[in-house]
Amino acid sequence: MENDIFAENGKKRKFIFVIGGVMSGVGKGIASASMGRILQGRGFSVTAVKIDPYVNVDAGTMNPVEHGEVFVTEDGDETDQDVGNYERFLDTNIYRDNYMTTGRVYQAVINRERNLEYGGKCVEVVPHVPYEVINRIKNAGQKANADITIIEIGGTAGEYQNILFLEAARMMHLENPDDVAFVLVSYLPVPSKIGEMKTKPTQSAARELNAAGILPDFILARSTHPLDEPRRQKLALFCSVDKENVISAPDVDSVYDVPINFEKENLSEKILKKLKLEPRQQDLQEWRDFSEKIRCCEQAVKIGIIGKYFESGDFILPDAYISVIESLKFAAWHNGRKPVIEWINSDLYEKEPDKVSELSGFDCLVVPGGFGSRGIEGKISAIKYARENKIPYLGLCYGMQLASIEFARNVLGLADAHTTEINPQTTNPIIHIIAEQAEKIAAKNYGNSMRLGAYPCILKEGTRAYELYGQREISERHRHRYEFNNDYRKRVEEKGLIIAGTSPDNELVEIVELSKDLHPFFVGVQFHPEFKSRPLKAHPLFLGLIKAGINK
Ligand code: GLN
Repeated sequence: MENDIFAENGKKRKFIFVIGGVMSGVGKGIASASMGRILQGRGFSVTAVKIDPYVNVDAGTMNPVEHGEVFVTEDGDETDQDVGNYERFLDTNIYRDNYMTTGRVYQAVINRERNLEYGGKCVEVVPHVPYEVINRIKNAGQKANADITIIEIGGTAGEYQNILFLEAARMMHLENPDDVAFVLVSYLPVPSKIGEMKTKPTQSAARELNAAGILPDFILARSTHPLDEPRRQKLALFCSVDKENVISAPDVDSVYDVPINFEKENLSEKILKKLKLEPRQQDLQEWRDFSEKIRCCEQAVKIGIIGKYFESGDFILPDAYISVIESLKFAAWHNGRKPVIEWINSDLYEKEPDKVSELSGFDCLVVPGGFGSRGIEGKISAIKYARENKIPYLGLCYGMQLASIEFARNVLGLADAHTTEINPQTTNPIIHIIAEQAEKIAAKNYGNSMRLGAYPCILKEGTRAYELYGQREISERHRHRYEFNNDYRKRVEEKGLIIAGTSPDNELVEIVELSKDLHPFFVGVQFHPEFKSRPLKAHPLFLGLIKAGINK
């Protein structure tokens, strides 16, 4: 490497690589975020980086059923849902620099080669690709001015796809072993017929990691059960890890208990010891209070999410809406209620329109973001039901657009009102595309063709939105192509749908709401407030929705 990646102006930066073993989906993201939180509790500034090994340049073009939510950062990057976990646990913004994919890394290397930036050298997969990865990791740590950067490598040890990232990690460790730690998050199955926790898959995972030149410093033993002493010893011996660094990580009721459970095993102290850092403080109190609050909420608030990205084969995976779900939970807990969330597939109300009356059983309803035509008439029926029956409703992005369409059709009497996303020929395009986006689509330039990231919004005094936010100017994150058509502003307002928020130049409608005398809570927002809701700072719109649901 040309430059020292660990020291800048006398400040030592430390790096923790988190690598999965055995299988995916065992909570590597939550484990990374939780480690970050406990290290913050020790007085260190922490940031986190997510590496996704696929060739896509960003997560924006992937199907949410397969890949889960696309999390949008302040600076408009379309990233993996784990970045949302980092923001929620670390209570900090994560930016574009903290996310990379194989596609993004190769694109950068190839662009650099085309620009002659390698000075005539033969550009090789190794070391040039790992060097690019290292530079990105370093850059992320530096930009966040983080003492500690946690890097989560997607996939599992032994996979072909993530090998160049492991190579980058190995090189960083070789350069300065005291500044780099490796954590293997593995899974220990307890097969029901055997009734015993098995360590062998984790032993194999550790060996796979060894084959990439990496010896784990820690093993986080994910399982349905806590790790017992004999298995802790076995893992230590066969995986060459200090016994005290084999950490039990059983399933928990709430992911927000994970940092607290880690501290029961003194994990922050052990990590600091490995990285040769002195603890500066011990303060996890706010987080402990929050986790206690969750436990104390008994009375339920029943929330329905009407969407379509739930089903994967025979399984229901609400991952596509994870930030919405977490935001609803924070708001319920802050209102002293236990969130009971039900997923409703909007297709249902298209096949069986009468079923929509089941929505009367909910305290509040949400239609989250979405794309395309499937299920939207079902969502529109649900919104109509919520409006007419005064059930508190929050529409997020598509949920705002569809609420506007529903209002235009059923209150203004414009039967064919629609979004041009679905019906380009409609005579009442209440939601349409603005010129700038239309050009990108015409050129088939779909990747990154949306309004993405944070935009300011001015709230109208006297509205519910203004009351909830308690300020005139706000900023929220966007991810959409279509916008409210200004030709319809006056007409909807005359009938009681208030334009409660717009862009500062008043060109773009950002919030619509029904006036308070018409409905207890009916708000649609063109943005995604779910990306800015944090455990200790529940978002005002979600708080408002839940409060209205409780009062219903
Ligand atoms: N499909 C709509 C648009 O592109 C809404 C997108 C969303 O809900 N995120 O404008």
